[in-house]
Amino acid sequence: DPVVDAAYARRWLALATAAVEREADRLTELDSAIGDADHGTNLRRGFTAASAAVEKDPPGTPGGVLALVGRQLIGSVGGASGPLYGTLLRGAGKHLGDAETASPEELCGALRAGLEGVARLGGAAAGDKTMLDALFPAVDAMAFSLDSGAGLVAALGAARIAADEGAAATVPMLARKGRASYLGERSVGHQDPGATSSALLVTALAEAAEG
Ligand code: ADP
Ligand code: MG
Ligand code: MG
Repeated sequence: DPVVDAAYARRWLALATAAVEREADRLTELDSAIGDADHGTNLRRGFTAASAAVEKDPPGTPGGVLALVGRQLIGSVGGASGPLYGTLLRGAGKHLGDAETASPEELCGALRAGLEGVARLGGAAAGDKTMLDALFPAVDAMAFSLDSGAGLVAALGAARIAADEGAAATVPMLARKGRASYLGERSVGHQDPGATSSALLVTALAEAAEG
């Protein structure tokens, strides 16, 4: 298994940016059903800015990369997802501090810390049909897997499956946070755009580890 270092964080960013680019139209389409049809556009803008910033002045630690990406998302995305994903990544980056490498357990703890920041900021709970419905199961699956003795690749493989399942599980949910909540019952029957993009970001974490 690879080490979690700055190069790993940059591989994740490259894969995440490519996935957002590739899936932008689908994300915007999902957001057109229960939101304002800009989720793909928002994330494309954010990840393009983040990639440019990291390329211009590459941080030497994984925490530095994640925190810089987080700051760029907060600064460049107008929609709710910018501050939410920004809080996740900046929080995870800060948690990793200035260590040159992190263990899989430390990465998992950092993601958990970032996620708690998202829940505080957005006030959403599991089952509210948001990005948290993909991210909480992903971090739980990663932690469970590591506890059972798995390494980084296997643990992130489990996280990826849990994120995909979590995103799919938002379809029958009634939205209680964000724009989709304005639709009430009409939000039922559509997959949440943010949970869908979260699954892409977790998949990129797994692929970056597979090398
Ligand atoms: P906006 O709704 O401002 O246009 P986006 O379309 O980019 O922003 O992002 C919408 C996504 O943000 C939703 O699909 C949902 O997953 C997520 N989201 C919205 N509000 C919250 C919240 N309070 N907590 C967690 N996630 C949220
Ligand atoms: Mg939107
Ligand atoms: Mg918007």
